[in-house]
Amino acid sequence: MPEIKKILVANRGEISLRIMRSAKEMGIKTVAVFSEADRFSPHVRFADEAVCIGPPPSSSSYLLGEKIIEEAKNLGADAIHPGYGFLSENASFAQKVQDAGLIFIGPSPFSIEVMGDKLSAKQAVKDFGVPLVPGTDEPITSIPEAKKIALEIGYPILIKASAGGGGKGMRIVESEEDFEEQMQRAVSEAQSAFGNGSVFIEKFITSPKHIEIQILGDQHGNLVYLFERECSIQRRHQKVVEEAPSATLTPEIREAMGKAAVGVAKACDYYGAGTVEFIVDNQLNFYFLEMNTRLQVEHPVTEMITGKDLVKEQILIASGKPLSFGQDDLQINGHAIEIRVYAENPKNNFLPDIGKLSTYIRPQGPGVRVDDAFEKGMDIPIYYDPMIAKLITFAESREKAIARMIRAIDEYQITGIETTLSFCRFVLQHEEFISGKFDTKFVETFFEPKKLNIKLTQEETSITAALGVMIFEKSRKNHQENKEKKLAAANSNWNKRKH
Ligand code: ADP
Ligand code: ADP
Ligand code: MG
Repeated sequence: MPEIKKILVANRGEISLRIMRSAKEMGIKTVAVFSEADRFSPHVRFADEAVCIGPPPSSSSYLLGEKIIEEAKNLGADAIHPGYGFLSENASFAQKVQDAGLIFIGPSPFSIEVMGDKLSAKQAVKDFGVPLVPGTDEPITSIPEAKKIALEIGYPILIKASAGGGGKGMRIVESEEDFEEQMQRAVSEAQSAFGNGSVFIEKFITSPKHIEIQILGDQHGNLVYLFERECSIQRRHQKVVEEAPSATLTPEIREAMGKAAVGVAKACDYYGAGTVEFIVDNQLNFYFLEMNTRLQVEHPVTEMITGKDLVKEQILIASGKPLSFGQDDLQINGHAIEIRVYAENPKNNFLPDIGKLSTYIRPQGPGVRVDDAFEKGMDIPIYYDPMIAKLITFAESREKAIARMIRAIDEYQITGIETTLSFCRFVLQHEEFISGKFDTKFVETFFEPKKLNIKLTQEETSITAALGVMIFEKSRKNHQENKEKKLAAANSNWNKRKH
């Protein structure tokens, strides 16, 4: 059985730090990689060794698989953990790691390949009794043919990029007359964002919940599910608030979804940690969406309610150990909520914001976990995902976890940059959220910027009074103009990034 003594983490930011923390607790040495933009980042300091792999753009640094493998070999690492994003769902990278005689901490290249493409994933799971969203299971080649199918399924439909991810590459078509135009856009977007223009059709479930199941499997054929995460609070089809367990699942449906998720994992001979995503309609019918073959951003909520360290489990599985527990040993204990604190402006359509963290004070106290990799005075780099931190609260009940989260949000002090904190506070106190009934339409239906916490405005008002309206307005305008210039650069950069 291969023993892992040194792990190179092929990632940055909070997830790099998160992985190294577990490694350290297991007595495993760590190597960080970093781009020139991240030279002074906490993940670099935390590691036992660190190596610069190139200039800031991820295509010149964090995505350079071969260079990273070379560095792993030079520094005597025996395994590579890819984190999420970047190279984590790249089958050919996983294969190259193995070919270099190193351990890839994740599933096999085969599983990544099958599940990396939404269409091949659907084809693979068909025989495993997994319910699918009505739609096509082949890429669309003929528009008239596709239109016929769309009519059969019934509008609205969703055109999806087979290679899509991160909430990108999806277009809703409300009626037949929009079909061709949307189809063309979808294909060209998919081509430019993912280098693969293959698209397919799914019925657009109008008000679904997004509920996903965490699974773990070892290399000896044992598979378990670690219950669900409710991730319906999304903007741009991307999650901002997640919780475990879901407030609406019954024990029967939880078990049925868990078993379906294990079926999906079996369909691709899965081992490692993985997530099977489902959409759930208001009758609690569930349909398979896709499988993410990696550690998920929101994995901490599962860790809180199951008491398992998913990164440690990944490392043990990668070194060939059998799972040390079975399905019957797992149970849900308490309730956990995570909010993603993004450098984004909820008052301006969640556009990424940039700047310096002039104040940065984390919440503390019972039941609070912050996974981040920032400190006061640091800039939010424009090259990467604008997530600053994940704030997680844990308590014995959902009600208490919500109250704790609101308390923690109020303790979190961030200035110099717009964040999603005020938006998350709005969500957590909303009666629809509290009722547990909400779905993926929540933001669209209930959110208006004017409903955000008005504390900020009061602060601004008092500053205005102190300084005099004229001076304040002038400096604010200058600041705003500078910021807008930088933002335009940042946004164009962000859009260019490949998933
Ligand atoms: P998860 O499915 O784990 O909850 P997300 O779907 O939010 O997480 O994002 C998964 C990965 O995709 C993250 O590493 C994130 O950095 C990356 N990502 C998210 N949004 C984008 C985007 N717009 N463009 C490129 N990559 C993205
Ligand atoms: P990605 O790879 O970008 O994560 P997913 O297929 O997981 O793509 O979908 C992301 C989100 O888009 C889901 O969480 C859900 O909110 C929405 N979505 C996806 N498919 C459908 C559908 N058929 N009907 C309604 N909403 C959908
Ligand atoms: Mg998804």
